[in-house]
Amino acid sequence: MHSFYPFWFNIFLYIWIGLAAVIFIVLVVLKIEVPYGRYTRTGWGAFISNRAGWVLMEIPSLLIFAGFFLGGNKVHDPVTWFFFAVWVFHYTNRSLIYPFRTRTISKKMPLSVMFMAIFFNLINASANGYYLGYIHPVYPGYWWKDIRFIFGVLAYLVGMTMNWWADGKLIRLRQNNVNEYAVPYGGVFRYVSCPNYLGEIMEWGGFALMAWNLAALAFFMWTLANLIPRALNHHAWYHRTFPSYPKERKAIIPFIL
Ligand code: NDP
Repeated sequence: MHSFYPFWFNIFLYIWIGLAAVIFIVLVVLKIEVPYGRYTRTGWGAFISNRAGWVLMEIPSLLIFAGFFLGGNKVHDPVTWFFFAVWVFHYTNRSLIYPFRTRTISKKMPLSVMFMAIFFNLINASANGYYLGYIHPVYPGYWWKDIRFIFGVLAYLVGMTMNWWADGKLIRLRQNNVNEYAVPYGGVFRYVSCPNYLGEIMEWGGFALMAWNLAALAFFMWTLANLIPRALNHHAWYHRTFPSYPKERKAIIPFIL
């Protein structure tokens, strides 16, 4: 397979980032609650079990990225292998481990939501896998010591730890009352309603910083576009549902938003 001209690849990514901005504005202005999890509702077509939906919508990210990366015509240097490991590590959890940790017995999600997520993952994983497999310039040997790499890895590690911790905490809230919701307390929940989303944003912000390319930046932009509106929705939902919800807690950015 020949790499098509990087110029067009970049043009595509600028349009793709523009689309993320449009989606962000639409979700925030119209206060759209994407109908999965607590917002699952009828009117979005047929349903699939929550667990199967998560596996099917996330696994393309793992397989497609790996396919482009491993099948690419570039010789991989240790730095790109590191990016590969970071991606595979995250998506192995998200597609094959996380769905089996959740306590969503008998819960369903609309197939339409699953297909929207698959569409996003197809483009996102292809763009990132294609860049690293076919286009990327070889990262210089000093990249390990570059400030972008060091801060990127730090942000990724802190974000991943926060994301896993917060997901685990939310899942454990359901120890006894299956499918019920409760107010999470402690740790970063003292400051924000959605530390799992804050962690995810830090992860992909860190990835964009350490990999320093347009495809990774686009992924970061889409993560912001998806998760900030959903965090605002969750925050408003907590206040509606629990009258004693802590007033000082923000939605996603401590002390700010
Ligand atoms: P949520 O916070 O909505 O839910 C996470 C899990 O915890 C679900 O099983 C949910 O159950 C349960 N839960 C949440 N809040 C409570 C509560 N107060 N009491 C009891 N149980 C609760 O996260 P999402 O489902 O939106 O996302 C899951 C993961 O996927 C996150 O780590 C997120 O960062 C990541 N993600 C990443 C995206 C990206 O663009 N990179 C996009 C979307 C998600 P239920 O499902 O029944 O509500």
